[in-house]
Amino acid sequence: MPPTTWKDKALFTPGPLTTSRTVKQAMLRDLGSRDHEFIALVADVRRRLVEVAAADPDVYTAVLMQGSGTFAIESVIGSVIPPAGRLVVLVNGAYGERMVKIAQRLGFDVSELRAPEHAPVAVDALDALLATDEAVTHVAVVHCETTTGLMNPVEEVGAVVARYDRSLIVDAMSSFGAVPVDLAGWSVDYLISSANKCIEGVPGFAFVLARTAALQATKGYARSVSLDLLAQYEGLEKDGQFRFTPPVQVIMAFHQALVELEAEGGVAGRGARYQRNYARTLQGMVELGFRPYLSEQDRGYIITSFHYPAHPNFNFQRFYQLLSDRGHVIYPGKLSHADCFRIGHIGRLEIGDVESLLCSVRAVLVEMEIPI
Ligand SMILES: *Cc1c(COP(=O)(O)O)cnc(C)c1O
Repeated sequence: MPPTTWKDKALFTPGPLTTSRTVKQAMLRDLGSRDHEFIALVADVRRRLVEVAAADPDVYTAVLMQGSGTFAIESVIGSVIPPAGRLVVLVNGAYGERMVKIAQRLGFDVSELRAPEHAPVAVDALDALLATDEAVTHVAVVHCETTTGLMNPVEEVGAVVARYDRSLIVDAMSSFGAVPVDLAGWSVDYLISSANKCIEGVPGFAFVLARTAALQATKGYARSVSLDLLAQYEGLEKDGQFRFTPPVQVIMAFHQALVELEAEGGVAGRGARYQRNYARTLQGMVELGFRPYLSEQDRGYIITSFHYPAHPNFNFQRFYQLLSDRGHVIYPGKLSHADCFRIGHIGRLEIGDVESLLCSVRAVLVEMEIPI
């Protein structure tokens, strides 16, 4: 083990991410979960989340849910769909697939509309489906499909869903806080994200921005006690408390992270830093001979997938390890039809961290005897 004074490795991953020292320091306290100080902190976190979403607090509310991001997705799918409801999931990557799996396991009538992993979700097919299938009550889509880094056209999906008067669920896990959203404009009823992505907190809970009126109409639908979204909302509204043990320190860190997000200029400021990280990474990697997987118009600035180099000396495990030894953690690919790895642009990373990564990639290519 290196001494604890050593620098932590920089995380070029989709989360958990590199966080600021001050966010980590905010956890060095004990606070009772029923203490008025903690209750006030939770209320401020909920208020700030609605603000980050640029939503009207009279229309939207923030519900915090213990667990990782997937727990909150399972909470939404398992809590808001009526017994006779039908869910359509727009799939173009692993996170769309995961929502299908959750709905199937819960025993819902679910259908999926598939697009290739390198293309945006099938909005026209959704339009055609909703025109004929009146049993569909809910549509789910992933905002930034972290599998590839592709940005799905949630606004267009929302326009179709609104035209047919259905309910829209958005997994904005990896984009919320750094990519602007318009919940009312895009007709979103439920948007899900988590503590340890673009808000730059530490892992331990996730949250749902819900249209309050839609959520309040879901009484009796929940299939789970611990993941009951409406009960969680009612608990938070009633006395400001979680129903079951909250991750107190994680929420203290998250509050600090929200303060730091505001200081950086909110979503616009944070998005600008991530865009700089993305642009420099792309330019540097292309100079080193790497090819991005997605075409430019589909790429976001959250995470970028690169093809493996064609050279026979390339071995991802070795490439990963040599970069990690130099203090940079990248991310493997998750694609079914292409060999790719990913580099994230989110978390407390500055342009200097990107330069440092690019220097290491160059050195590692030399070490692996791959011509640049
Ligand atoms: C990170 C992520 C999730 C949730 O992952 P957890 O490991 O459960 O936190 C879900 N959807 C997307 C798009 C993500 O990027």
